[in-house]
Amino acid sequence: MVGAGPAGAMAAWRAAAGGRRVCLLERKSRVGTPVRCGEGIGLKGMTASLDIDKRWILATVSKACFVSPAGLRVTLADIDESYVIDRTVFDADLVERARDAGAEYFPHTPVTGIARREDGRYRCVTPRGAFDAPCVILADGIESNLARDAGWDTSLKLEDLESCAFCHVTHPGIADDTVCFHVGSGQAPGGFAWVFPRGKGRANVGLGVLGTFCEPGKARRCLHRFVESRFPGASADDEHCGGVPVGRWTRPLVRGGIMLAGDAARQVNSLSGAGIGYGLYAGRLAGDVAARACSGEGCDQGALQQYQKEWASGLGIQQDRSYALKSMLLTKNNDAFFDRIARAFARSDPKRLNYKSIFLRTFARHPLMMLKVLRLFR
Ligand SMILES: Cc1cc2nc3c(=O)[nH]c(=O)nc-3n(C[C@H](O)[C@H](O)[C@H](O)COP(=O)(O)OP(=O)(O)OC[C@H]3O[C@@H](n4cnc5c(N)ncnc54)[C@H](O)[C@@H]3O)c2cc1C
Repeated sequence: MVGAGPAGAMAAWRAAAGGRRVCLLERKSRVGTPVRCGEGIGLKGMTASLDIDKRWILATVSKACFVSPAGLRVTLADIDESYVIDRTVFDADLVERARDAGAEYFPHTPVTGIARREDGRYRCVTPRGAFDAPCVILADGIESNLARDAGWDTSLKLEDLESCAFCHVTHPGIADDTVCFHVGSGQAPGGFAWVFPRGKGRANVGLGVLGTFCEPGKARRCLHRFVESRFPGASADDEHCGGVPVGRWTRPLVRGGIMLAGDAARQVNSLSGAGIGYGLYAGRLAGDVAARACSGEGCDQGALQQYQKEWASGLGIQQDRSYALKSMLLTKNNDAFFDRIARAFARSDPKRLNYKSIFLRTFARHPLMMLKVLRLFR
């Protein structure tokens, strides 16, 4: 297992729980740091793969607020419960669970190359020595240099990559129970800005600029402008940048005895950029399938294909839909469109609004779009 983020740690946990000998190789000395994530996750995204531990939760969220390019606000007062979690605690905890199940964990162990040996096993080369295995799960994140070495085309089209900048903001205007999304070409071209509360008046504030609208330093400049205008006088710290793959999931997910999971396989909700839940789900499937396919005799590589089948018929469908919706909504300069939607809902009772009703009423006004959307859900 390469990479101890949510996808890799979950895969290691499941494969070890399935009775296999597992080595989890991680290049960082401390997993989960620095945090390159807004740390938001819905109840369903989390519980599809594991039960929630209260220690991970920084804030519990029940409201969502959408702000249009012209500043019109639409609030949903009763969304499915969602959380902002502490990824440093969460990622470390997942690794502990993998270890408790019997996985051996090797921090500070970057894998620098992967090669197939004559006996069909794979050799992961690290500065600490070589690790040989009949099956390797690559969960090495968005860069995934190892997937490229193993024969995958890991290049991302500009329209399939969000360039993000984010920081922590402390400000009295931050509501601890509300997530906010701001759209508009003036704030986050081709993407959106987010404010995810971390409790005690603090929030993860960030934004993504779609690759097609990006140039060096643009995401950071947009972030600084956004923070100054939205939270005047606020203190902002812990600033980082990172990329989110918002394209389609990688096909194939399995080559020989190598499987891809998480960001390495571009398994992310293409519309929202949320990848924690997808990574956990993919890691769970990959770990379970690997445990069944491997034995003392080696690995039945044909049996690994089950992973792609299960992914494709599960969250894979959801990702395909989110990709199609993103292509319709976020890739163009849609400011006027978003303002029209916001105007239609800005005076609605927040308690009566939900995502489904907004989607249905919006697309009902745009019959061509409605047809396209209906085709997605057939
Ligand atoms: C700015 C930003 C905000 C985001 N906000 C959200 C959010 O609010 N909600 C959400 O659900 N998702 C969010 N995401 C996406 C989410 O963070 C990722 O989808 C998720 O972390 C993917 O998990 P992973 O395990 O696939 O990869 P990662 O978490 O990236 O883990 C990969 C691991 O592999 C290790 N590694 C890499 N190369 C090697 C190597 N050669 N050898 C050994 N180890 C290696 C890395 O050190 C790392 O620990 C955000 C992403 C960004 C950039």
